[in-house]
Amino acid sequence: MSDSGPETARVSAPVAIILFGSPGSGKGTQSKYIVDWLGIPQISTGDMLRDHIRRGTEIGVSIASRMRAGTLVPDELVNALVAERVARPDCAKGFILDGYPRTTAQARQMMRLLNPLGVEEVVIHLVVDYNVIIARMQGRRVCPKCGTLYNSVSRPPKTEGICDLDGEKLVVREDDRPEVVRERLEQYEAQTRPVIDFFRQDNHRVFDVDASRERPETVFSRIQGMLADIPGLTVKEVVV
Ligand code: AMP
Repeated sequence: MSDSGPETARVSAPVAIILFGSPGSGKGTQSKYIVDWLGIPQISTGDMLRDHIRRGTEIGVSIASRMRAGTLVPDELVNALVAERVARPDCAKGFILDGYPRTTAQARQMMRLLNPLGVEEVVIHLVVDYNVIIARMQGRRVCPKCGTLYNSVSRPPKTEGICDLDGEKLVVREDDRPEVVRERLEQYEAQTRPVIDFFRQDNHRVFDVDASRERPETVFSRIQGMLADIPGLTVKEVVV
């Protein structure tokens, strides 16, 4: 899921887009739009961790019960996964961080990692109302084969319960079960929300986007506008 696609626009400098928001705020959906637009890869720590579990690696075995319960996995582990990932050649033009950093310790480590890379860094904060999140996560389904996310309210499949792309039967992701959702939201409040204050105090560029009421396409056009407003960064459409 972290492969970059053919871009339709190009940025003048490498950019690190940090998508920040609670579970269910739409980070995954917005990441995919940005991947298609700029052709830079999405680095989703959640996807990387789930991949380890699927492959039954040593890391996967060590984190499976935490992931199932909706608690965060250790900082050192995700820091190491992200450091290895951003060093790969496909990140040279930039990348999207989806679901990282989730603690202030991770944010500090992220800065140590990004500073020497000379990337333009921008934090996009997807702001969503608590009740909207609960409703959204209850309607969430995923294709077990290709990973496409659907939502019975905001993004229904063409045929109920079936993936549009490969006809696979959609499932509820294990950590989208109601008791796990509650735990994930509590973890967000306690450990992740303080990261946004840390970014603000540390003079990072933080853009707040209302992701409660607007459709995903509208949220994406706001993000496009914000990136176009960054001094020193130009976004040019690619002519094919
Ligand atoms: P996500 O798909 O981003 O919602 O992540 C799913 C689960 O993976 C979370 O509930 C955590 O257990 C774990 N996880 C993902 N990213 C991180 C991170 N940056 N730090 C700690 N745990 C993470």
